[in-house]
Order: sequence, then structure tokens, then C-alpha cells
Amino acid sequence: MTQSDKPMYVAISLDIDPDANSAAEGRHDALSSPIEYGEIRVDACKKGLQKIFELLEKYDIDATLFYEARTAQMLIEDGMYLPRLSERHEIACHSLKHEDFLGKVSGIPMEEKSIEESIDKAKEILVKVFKREIKGFRAPYTRINHTVVKVLERLRFQYDSSETVILGTEWAGNPYPLKAFDSSLMELALPSFRDAKGKKMSSYLWAIFEGRRIFSEYIDAVVQARDMAKQGLFVFSIHPWHLYVDCLGNQFGKDRVRENAENLESIFSQLKQMQGIRILRQDKYMEAWLEKEDSN
Ligand SMILES: [Zn+2]
Repeated sequence: MTQSDKPMYVAISLDIDPDANSAAEGRHDALSSPIEYGEIRVDACKKGLQKIFELLEKYDIDATLFYEARTAQMLIEDGMYLPRLSERHEIACHSLKHEDFLGKVSGIPMEEKSIEESIDKAKEILVKVFKREIKGFRAPYTRINHTVVKVLERLRFQYDSSETVILGTEWAGNPYPLKAFDSSLMELALPSFRDAKGKKMSSYLWAIFEGRRIFSEYIDAVVQARDMAKQGLFVFSIHPWHLYVDCLGNQFGKDRVRENAENLESIFSQLKQMQGIRILRQDKYMEAWLEKEDSN
């Protein structure tokens, strides 16, 4: 294969967590907005996830599912048979109860011991439910620090996927060790990039669902990245609940829900047709990359 034939890889990742979740002052775990109600809801997550599973099947896409362990348990109690629905996808970890590890909003940073207990417990639950090996981790609010990274390494995660890095001359989408945290744990970072007007964008699709961006801007970003990041990985991320409710927990109207699903479908269908890109799970990308490193 010559350099010009080499594809850029694209991963579709889902952060499967409670509806419109938010950190709250004085507690480690997250609540659904409005947090004054003190509730955890997953009904929008359930509907959004059902729709996304359907679309992934239709377009024959294998995705990476970062499950918050509590949400996985609640969805199963609610009658969703996640192990079968998730069969073709990677199972990864998105914490136990969406903890604010660093205490940025809660005001109470967690100690190393309690971070370890909660991530270990989350992993244990996911292994029990899915009977699969858990290799990847994405932190709640994508916030990590030295302590979290140390814990992930100790719990034998293979990669973290929480950092956001500008895609460009400095970084072409490749995995890298988290040296900034004195760790050799590998990072599969989320890309950030510029839109046609030069405004910064991320690969989280929430801005489409909130009506602030259109799907073609994300397709343009992939086209732009394609030549820059050959053999790199472009990770998209989606919150399933966001197809049905906004960040504040307000229900979208019927038309909006339909539009959100159509926009998401347009992204999947265009990515599938695009030349020079290949869609794959984050664990499969990592595996291929490690093999390549070994043979060098
Ligand atoms: Zn989350």
C-alpha cells in the first residue's frame, strides 16, 4: 500500500450515561437536569440508544460503547437486553455513576482510593453483564488527572479516550502515551478542528442536536482531516439521550427528534460512502496499531 492509499480511520463512540446529566455541588455522582429534582433518568437514553443501534445495524457499523455502569444496569432493568444489542460493538467503560473525579463542580475532589474503588466496581459490573474484556475508558466530562490515569493503569485498561487534541501539524490522530501524566497508558484522543469560518469545533455531535451546527460541517471536517491524518483515528462521540432531550433535560418536539435522527443517519451514510476512510471500533484500531509498532 502506498502512502496515498492509506485510509484515515473513523470511530463512532457513544457515551451511554443518564439523560442530560450534570455534576452537582457536594456529591460525587451525576444527576439528570434539572438537578434540583435529585433524579437519575435514562428514558431518553434508552430511546436514543435504540435508534442508534438501529442505524448502526442499517449501515453495518461497529461502534465503541462507553457505558456508565449504573446506566447499563438501569437500562437492563428497564427491559433492554444490552448484551445482545451490543454484540457487534466494543464494550468500554464510562465510570460507575459519572463521578466528578477532580471535584471541579462538586467541590470535593475524590481520593485515589475512592476513584479506584468506583472504576474497579464499574469494570466489574460491565464484565459481569457483557462477559467481555474491557479495554477502553472515557472519563465523565472527559476530565482526567494524574490520579485517574494512575488508577486506569493499575486496573489494566489498555487505553483512555478522554483528551481533546487539535488535529493538524502537531497531531495526526495517532495514539500516544500519556507522558504528561507520567504514564505509559495509551490515549486515543478526540479531535478538535476548525469550521469553514475558522471557529473551533469538536467531534461531539451535541451541537447538531442543539440546533447549533449542521451535519455537513462534520462531514467537511472528516474530508479536511482525511489527507492530514492518514492512518490516524478520528473519533466521533454521541450521547444517545441527546436525540430526545436538550442539555437542560427539556424534551425535544416530534419534528426535532425526527430531524436529529435524520442528521445522524446522514452522517453514518456519508461516512460509509466516503473514499479514503474506514470505520472501525477503537479497540480494533488500537490492536492494529500495537501490532504495527511491534513489527517496526
Ligand atoms: Zn458522560
